[in-house]
Amino acid sequence: MPITHVEIRCFRFACPECGMTDAELGHLATDDEIHCMVCLVDDERHVVLRRWLVEDHGQG
Ligand SMILES: [Zn+2]
Repeated sequence: MPITHVEIRCFRFACPECGMTDAELGHLATDDEIHCMVCLVDDERHVVLRRWLVEDHGQG
């Protein structure tokens, strides 16, 4: 079966700096969400989120 659309992958995430998680923000991250918005807005720092696919179990 051919792939006719681009699948949007969703990641769970946690910020290694401020500790913000997907559960606290209430949404998952997409492929292009790699920086913590809280750190970016509050401190103007680009902190790379720890991310892992929702399908992956037992990690993180
Ligand atoms: Zn952060």
